Amino acid sequence: MDKKVITVLGPVAPDEMGITDAHNHVWISPVNSPAADAPMLNQQDAILAELKDYREAGGGGQIDCQPFGCGRDGRKLRYLSEQSGVKIVANTGFHLQQYYPPDSAIWQMDTQRAADLFLSEIREGLTETREDEAPVFPGLIKIAVRESIEASPVHLIEAAVQASLESSLTIEMHTEKGQAVEDFVALFAKLRLPPERLVICHIDKRPDHGLHKELAQAGYMLEYDTFFRPKYAPENKLWALIDAMVEAGLGHALALATDLADGSLWARVGGGPGIAAFVTDVKQRLEELAYSEEYIQAMMGGNIANRLAVSNKE
Ligand SMILES: [Zn+2]
Repeated sequence: MDKKVITVLGPVAPDEMGITDAHNHVWISPVNSPAADAPMLNQQDAILAELKDYREAGGGGQIDCQPFGCGRDGRKLRYLSEQSGVKIVANTGFHLQQYYPPDSAIWQMDTQRAADLFLSEIREGLTETREDEAPVFPGLIKIAVRESIEASPVHLIEAAVQASLESSLTIEMHTEKGQAVEDFVALFAKLRLPPERLVICHIDKRPDHGLHKELAQAGYMLEYDTFFRPKYAPENKLWALIDAMVEAGLGHALALATDLADGSLWARVGGGPGIAAFVTDVKQRLEELAYSEEYIQAMMGGNIANRLAVSNKE
C-alpha cells in the first residue's frame, strides 16, 4: 500500500511534501507556564505572510513540533496551511514539563493514560479539533527528554513508544544537545522500537562524528538545526558534520531543520533570518558544495517525509 504523510489537511504522498523543514514551530499559543523563556508564536498575520514567503522561495512542508497542552493549536495550523499552501504536519506527544501550566493533566498521567491520550489523538484527531467538521490528525509523535534517563519522564517515553508501535507513526525526540543519547537509544531498543521509527533532534549540538555515524548506520535519523544559531558555531561544526556524513555515504540519515520556535528568529515576526532562509540559505549552500541533487532533496525533506509516511490511517 502507498505510504502517506499525514498533514493537517490530510494524507499526501511523501514526494508531494517537497522541501520540508524537519523540525520547526509554526504556531505556539501563550501558555501559563513557569518557564521564563517559554516560546510564543501567535502573530497570525506575520506568520501567514512568512509561510507565503517560504512557499514562494520553493519551500513545501513544515513539521510542527509543539504538542498538545503547551501551545499547540491545530485549528491555527489548519488555517495557516490552507491559506499559505505550505503542507504542515502536526504532532501528538509531550514536551519538556517546564513549558506546561503547573496543573497540566499530562504530568499527572500514568503510562497507560498517556498512551491512550496519544492514540486517541492519532485515531480521532487533535483534541482541540475533534469537534470540528474535519478534525486535524497528527503525523508524528513528538517527545522531549532531558540530560539523562534519570531526569526524564520514562513512563511518558514508554507511552509514546506504545503509541508508535500501535500506529506506525514516527517519534521525533527533543534531546538536550544530544546528551546521553546512547542511553536513550538503549532504552528504545529495550522497548522494541525499531530504529527507523526514531528521529533524534538537536544532535548537531554534539558534533561527535563517530557517534553520528554509528547512529546513522544503526538506522536512526539525525535532525540538525543550528544553521542560524551562531553560538553553536555552525560554520565550523554543523557544516563539517554534514560534510563528514555525506562523505561517509550517510546523507540518507539526515533531516535538516531550523527549529525557529523563537519569534525573534522569524523575519516578519522578529527581524531574524526567517523560515524561508531554510531554502534561500541552507539549500543554496548545499548546492554550492556540489552535493548531488539526490542528496540535497533527501536531506532537505525527502528523508523526513519518507520516515513519517505510514501505510494507512487507523
Ligand atoms: Zn523545537
